[in-house]
Amino acid sequence: MIKEGGALVAVAICCNRSSVSGQLQDLPLVSLTEIPFTKWPEEDCDACVRQVAMNTTVGHGKAWLEEHLDPKLWPAYVKHVLHSA
Ligand SMILES: [Zn+2]
Repeated sequence: MIKEGGALVAVAICCNRSSVSGQLQDLPLVSLTEIPFTKWPEEDCDACVRQVAMNTTVGHGKAWLEEHLDPKLWPAYVKHVLHSA
């Protein structure tokens, strides 16, 4: 676009999941969609308490599983199952 003489006037975010706002390289950020995600501490993750299989093909699941090899030692499982037994 710039090669053809166009000018950048803004940066668009397709899906803003964390209410990011402001500027990027002096250009205003424009969110086309905002979908806030609920977040919680890892020691309170209900999926970990229930030992739900983690998706390792998107996000940080693979790296997280590499750090937490034994599902019985996942922080939420330890807190809510082992310590409450
Ligand atoms: Zn979890």
